[in-house]
Formats: sequence, C-alpha cells, structure tokens
Amino acid sequence: MTPRIEPPLMGEPYLLTPGPLTTSAAVKQAMLRDWGSWDGDFRAMTAEMRERLVAMFGRGGEAFECVPMQGSGTFAVEAMLGTFVPRNGKALVLANGAYGKRSAEVLRYLGRDVEVLDKGDYLPPRGAEVAEILARDQAITHVVAVHCETSSGILNPVEEIAEAVAAAGRRLLIDSMSAFGAIDLPPETVPYEALVSSANKCIEGVPGFGFVLARREALKTAAGRSTSLSLDLHAQWAHMEKTGQWRFTPPTHAVAAFLEALRAHEAEGGVAGRGARYARNRDVMVAGMRDLGFETLLEARWLSPIIVTFFCPANPRFAFDRFYDLMKRRGFIIYPGKLTVVDSFRIGCIGQMDEDVMRRVVVAAKEALTEMGVTSAAPPEEALQERAKLAA
Ligand SMILES: *Cc1c(COP(=O)(O)O)cnc(C)c1O
Repeated sequence: MTPRIEPPLMGEPYLLTPGPLTTSAAVKQAMLRDWGSWDGDFRAMTAEMRERLVAMFGRGGEAFECVPMQGSGTFAVEAMLGTFVPRNGKALVLANGAYGKRSAEVLRYLGRDVEVLDKGDYLPPRGAEVAEILARDQAITHVVAVHCETSSGILNPVEEIAEAVAAAGRRLLIDSMSAFGAIDLPPETVPYEALVSSANKCIEGVPGFGFVLARREALKTAAGRSTSLSLDLHAQWAHMEKTGQWRFTPPTHAVAAFLEALRAHEAEGGVAGRGARYARNRDVMVAGMRDLGFETLLEARWLSPIIVTFFCPANPRFAFDRFYDLMKRRGFIIYPGKLTVVDSFRIGCIGQMDEDVMRRVVVAAKEALTEMGVTSAAPPEEALQERAKLAA
C-alpha cells in the first residue's frame, strides 16, 4: 500500500531532522480540542495507545507492558534506567555517539555504578567485545545499548549484542528512540528487558512524552528502585493499571496526535511498511547526494534508514551555515553533524516524506552548491581515511 504523503501546511519547511519531524495534517488536526485528564474519553485514549504499542510486537508483546512517561525522550530513558538498574547494580553502557554517552551520564547522576565501552564517534560495539567485558566483570547486572545511534545514524548490531548479554545471564535495556516503529526488534528472537522510544520519532507524532516497553515480570520486581518521584516507571505503571490515568498532568494533545499517528502507522503496513518507506527515502537521497560528489560517513552495511551523515565538501567555498540557509530557503531544514574529527552534516529520512520529496532535497542541495560556487562536493582526504577505519 502506498501511503498518501501530504506536503507540510502553509509552506512550512520539511524537517529533515530526527524528531521533532514533519507530521501529517491529520496528526496536527487531532490536537484541536481539549480533554480532561481524568475523563473516561482520555483514559480510553491512553489505554488504546498502550495496547497499540504493545501489539506492534505481535505475539511477543504478550509478555510486555507499555508505560508512557511525560517529557522528552531523555526523561523516559532516565525513567527506564532508574527503575530497572538496582541501586546496588552496575551497568555497562555501549557508546558510539552522544546518546550512549548521555545514558552513561544519566546513570552517574542516578548514583549507579557504570562502565562505558566507548567506541568513539561511530564504530559499532560488537557482541564479542560485550561478551568479553561481561565475562571479566561479574558485577555488571545490566547492559545499555543504543539501537540507531542518531549522532552518526549508525544502526548498531543489537541482535548480536542481545545474544551476548543473554548468554552471560545479564539484562539488556535498549534506547530504540529513533528506530522503534521502523526497525523491528522482535522480543521473541532478540532477548531484552525493556526498550524506550518517544512520540516524535518513527511513529510520527508530536513531542511531549516517551514510552517504555518492558517485560511485565521485570516491571513487577522494580518497585522502590527509583530515586525520582516523577520518573518512577513502576509507580506510573501501577497507577495507570489501577486508575487508567497518568500520575501527573498528561500531555493530552500530544497523546491525541499520537493515536492518530499510530492509526496511520498501522494503515501504512506497520513497522515493515514504515521501514520500507524510510529505506526508499534513504536510498534515493544517498544515491542523489553521491551523484553530486558527497560521501557518507558510513558504508552501506551500517547506514540506517533513519538519518545519514555526510562529510562536508573539501572545497573552501563550502560553508555549512550558508548551505543550511540555502537549503532552508528551498524548504528543507537539515541538521548539523556531531563528529569530533571531521566536519559533517546530517539529513533525516523520517517523517511525512517520500522518495519524491527526497529527490527534491537532492535538487535543492545541487542548487545550493551552485549558488555557493562549489563545483565538487567531494570530502577532504582525512575524511576518507577516517572512514577506512570502519572497514579495518
Ligand atoms: C531523540 C533521541 C533521544 C531522546 O532525545 P530527546 O531530545 O530527549 O527527545 C534519545 N536517544 C536517541 C537515540 C535519540 O535519537
């Protein structure tokens, strides 16, 4: 089924960013009324949302509970880590970018013992490395992995990581913020305790809350672990089970928008349909950008269908800020890079966009280069040397 992709309202630019992202008119319209947080109508909306999210796992979802949490995605990450890692536990965080590092920082704030496997800007943490660390350090109770590390756009090998963690008898917590809803992580075949995502990523809702999908058995034993009142996931779950309500003021409009987004996600063919559209977006955009001379940071096998990092061209006439403005004038908001070694920028593939939009992105990039007087978008030699490390 080909979903209908609508252009943004009133000439607003496309957000080629990994959330907030471009949402449909129907999602925006769903917010044009008010709901009482205690009212039966809103409680039914919360219940439907939680059921729909768990149902995305299919049969494997029967062992899972969905607990939404107010705030941006990081609030939900903090809630998950603080509720599942015991106060006397120890976490191994697998980091290859800003989001892995943030999880480690959250754990330090929470006073949990942390070890970090830091792979730098974009090298993937591998199952064998994880197995080796777990064998040497019996104190580690939990491993924290990032599914798609949105800093570089790398799709980390969570399947082999999950296997290594399960083989060592430890528990895995996954930050699937930017991947959930577009990249399958079936809990029957990939063992993990919980994953976290948020409303404004691949489900294509608006910002306002995150949610944790956790094994019921793990949640049941997590009472009293949190050192935060508002971010206690067990307390939020217990209250929701009992009353159908959120513990504190819920983001009512964002929930209404999200329900609309979940219906559209199902109509598009669920995770498989959504992931296929994003993969086409990426393929069309990357091929077009390569034709202009741009190079991706990552080789094809590590490129996620979520966001792609490109090296800035070596040509001295290229300036990212100018490129950004020229792209914005053409209706596209792009994203600066986060690499420490070489200059880069990122283009997101998620949101209400299809391959036709991505072709227009490439045309806009071509025009922007021409306007700057950049004849070739080829990256500097250091960039290609940097990339060769990944192949080694
Ligand atoms: C978006 C994102 C988050 C959460 O970021 P917020 O700004 O708090 O919403 C966490 N992890 C990853 C991998 C993300 O892409």
